[in-house]
Amino acid sequence: MGHNSELSPSSQAHLQHNNHSYLPIVEPDDAQVHELKNLLHHSHRTVVLSGAGMSTESGIPDFRSENGFWDNEDLLAMMSDAYLDAHPEDFWVHFKKAFMNPKFMAALPNEGHLALAELAAVGKQVKIFTQNIDGLHQMAGSMNVYELHGNIRHAYCPKCHNRYGITHITADEVPYCTYYDMKGNECASVLHPDVVLFDQMVRHMDEAFDAVVRADLLLILGTSLSVDPVASLPQFVSHGHKLAIINLEDTYMDERADLVIHASVGRTVHRAVEELLSLPGY
Ligand SMILES: [Zn+2]
Repeated sequence: MGHNSELSPSSQAHLQHNNHSYLPIVEPDDAQVHELKNLLHHSHRTVVLSGAGMSTESGIPDFRSENGFWDNEDLLAMMSDAYLDAHPEDFWVHFKKAFMNPKFMAALPNEGHLALAELAAVGKQVKIFTQNIDGLHQMAGSMNVYELHGNIRHAYCPKCHNRYGITHITADEVPYCTYYDMKGNECASVLHPDVVLFDQMVRHMDEAFDAVVRADLLLILGTSLSVDPVASLPQFVSHGHKLAIINLEDTYMDERADLVIHASVGRTVHRAVEELLSLPGY
């Protein structure tokens, strides 16, 4: 696609992957990229809050806008802890259909995920709080990732608390615990996905508030800030510290932000980090 990447050898492969992306790339303008680069350059404690728009360039749809998923109240009710307890087999059938389709599971980190990992690799302190359950930040190499809604690739047993990976989860239609106790009895409980269901609490909110208060730069990436408690986090950026928002749509915090870029998240972050890394000292 003719885009020159200097970030890592694998970037080109991911750019190829982006040819199949879900939405066309919306390029930021050069001045905005330059401003984002300056913010990153001067930051010592960057906190990232990422949402669905972070992963659309990896081909993962935004469930909030896709197929009216969030308007389907029957399905929403099924994606709950209460339904999982009452109808475990039926829960998994619907859960897999909604969240674990092959396209979603085959997604790779995009140039934005890779750029954030690269920032930490050159010594920047970066904490990532993500609403995404796809695990793509970690796959890109980021270490400091807090998954507010959990991770689709893991499940656990509610009875004996053993944890299971994606191979076990996808092997059968309904995943069961295969742990044997000392007496040789199989646990056989239906597993619980390691994601926050619709009647459960978002995780790591204390760490998130604490990190935002201490951050000298808060980067909002690909979230429209429409659902609490995550939506309120940017209000806790300390006076004099910087807030940058990169999202295709407006957010309620745009007016208070130091920089707002309405463009594709991955492309924008990639270009800013590439520019940063071309400076002397990086
Ligand atoms: Zn078990």
